[in-house]
Amino acid sequence: MAIADSAGTAKADNDVYVQRMERAKAEMARQDVEFLFVTPSSDLTYLLGYPAHASERLTLLCVPRDGEPFIVVPTLEASRLESRRDVVDIHRWDETDSPTRLVAQLVEGAAGATIVVSDQTWAAFLLRLQQELPDTRFAPATGVIRELRMIKDAHEIQMLREAGAKADTVWEEFVSGACLSGRTERDVAEEINARLQAQDLPGAGFNIVGSGPNSASPHHMTSERVIQQGDAVVFDFGGLWHHYWCDITRTLHVGEPGNDFRQVYDTVLAANTAAKEAVRPGASCADIDRAARDVIEAAGYGEYFIHRVGHGLGMDSHEEPYMVAGNELPLQPGMVFSDEPGIYVPGEHGVRIEDILVCTDDGYESFNHARRDLVVVE
Ligand code: ZN
Ligand code: ZN
Ligand code: ZN
Repeated sequence: MAIADSAGTAKADNDVYVQRMERAKAEMARQDVEFLFVTPSSDLTYLLGYPAHASERLTLLCVPRDGEPFIVVPTLEASRLESRRDVVDIHRWDETDSPTRLVAQLVEGAAGATIVVSDQTWAAFLLRLQQELPDTRFAPATGVIRELRMIKDAHEIQMLREAGAKADTVWEEFVSGACLSGRTERDVAEEINARLQAQDLPGAGFNIVGSGPNSASPHHMTSERVIQQGDAVVFDFGGLWHHYWCDITRTLHVGEPGNDFRQVYDTVLAANTAAKEAVRPGASCADIDRAARDVIEAAGYGEYFIHRVGHGLGMDSHEEPYMVAGNELPLQPGMVFSDEPGIYVPGEHGVRIEDILVCTDDGYESFNHARRDLVVVE
């Protein structure tokens, strides 16, 4: 089942969205929620196959637990929804109308009801909706949406697998014969961007190049720093493939590293492997974090592992489930998430190694196979 990007959609696509909204209704019934509001975001793409951009003009999908879903959309964009007419009622609003008032008029039986709102809805809209619908309870839709999106279907897994293979190709081609000494982080990041584009993983992606002391900052902003002999360099990049992300991190060294760096590298690689081997249905998200953290703590670097070991990946580059201490959620087949332990020694160097995994019936499959040994370049 494909997710179409534009009109000309097969009926099979609409069936996918009807099923997803039915699953949303079932989850709403289970959680005692009357209405679900979704504005442009990955949630809207997931539920309706409508990748609209968020703007000051309100677009809002309403899924009532006990009725037909409808969407409120600016007149000038309504034609983009032609192919979804069989899936939702379309209500247009003109430039001088109040779209939040229109939503309030269309929501029947809202008094006393609970409305859950998708995470990426702008506060500007939510505040106005709360004024228009004073006798309702508003709550986050996180708990409803994540029950749908956390478990990927076969089509989604295939897109994520293909995306991972493309990220692998970018790394393998970049690293073979790479010469970094004397180039700026930004220059190297632009080369990676061009390689992402060549793999049809375009500009919506992200791209961290952190060299020398910058490698010890996990979310470093790529800078004009000139890479030199003796630097560790952390690369963390990804892009979108048919609405699904890839996300990979590799670390290399410019010039021969010292023993202290090798030890850090070997420890992170062992932690990455330990987390993978802990993945199976029924293990908790916290267990995966713990497996990696045990290795790093045993080697004496515990204080330098300053983030959770992973995040879910799908239509968003960070989404549920999160592999973090305290998250007792059990893994299920179809959950896709990163395995990215790191050690960051301030002022010196950092190492992170990241692969994307899917939980399978009896363990895991990795979507990344790019070499993970310590690469030394000039
Ligand atoms: Zn991150
Ligand atoms: Zn990453
Ligand atoms: Zn990541």
